[in-house]
Amino acid sequence: MSRYTGPVCKLCRREGMQLFLKGQRCFSDKCAVQKRNYPPGQHAQRRSKATDYGLRLREKQKLKRIYGNITEKQFRNYFSEAERRQGNTGDVLVQLLERRLDSVVISGGLALSRTHARHLVNHGHFKVNGRRVDIASFQLRPGDVITLRDNDKTRKVVTEALEFNRSQTVPDWISVDRTAPSLTVSSLPTREHFTHPIQLQMIIELCSR
Ligand code: SF4
Repeated sequence: MSRYTGPVCKLCRREGMQLFLKGQRCFSDKCAVQKRNYPPGQHAQRRSKATDYGLRLREKQKLKRIYGNITEKQFRNYFSEAERRQGNTGDVLVQLLERRLDSVVISGGLALSRTHARHLVNHGHFKVNGRRVDIASFQLRPGDVITLRDNDKTRKVVTEALEFNRSQTVPDWISVDRTAPSLTVSSLPTREHFTHPIQLQMIIELCSR
């Protein structure tokens, strides 16, 4: 299996920043980055200074990890697509990543973490425009409506997640109906909606080579 299934806090420590991969735990004092903000591994602290290539590589890895540890192949496909489309490559790249079904579910507050969002999507708990969709990378378009399947057993879990995420700011390109519960994609995300401290230009320089 190409997907990483190991401890995710290690990924944050490797990148030296919080990637918010574990839901509630990330906001508690149990966060591994808060407790041990140095890379994992016996000799990691002895690593020599990163090269230009190394710095660019780390930015790319951060981006991949934030969006569910997507595979290199998937990432390259997103990048090629972003290069092919009109507009700034970085803007289109983050737009493609933000429009993934699992990303919208987490941005809209229907899940506690990205792993949780992927789990709910992969097990077919959501419908898009009335049709069951179980592909986490499914690209949403303006006007798409995400609902839970009828009589879905996870309704309680999703409602609890919405309640937990009540204080979270939902991006203005997603409308949330807390009673249904449902999400509507009202427009396309833009670069301003990408709030992660990642230098996209470095990723473009790395991947355009
Ligand atoms: Fe990263 Fe969250 Fe683990 Fe902290 S608790 S290290 S933010 S995954």
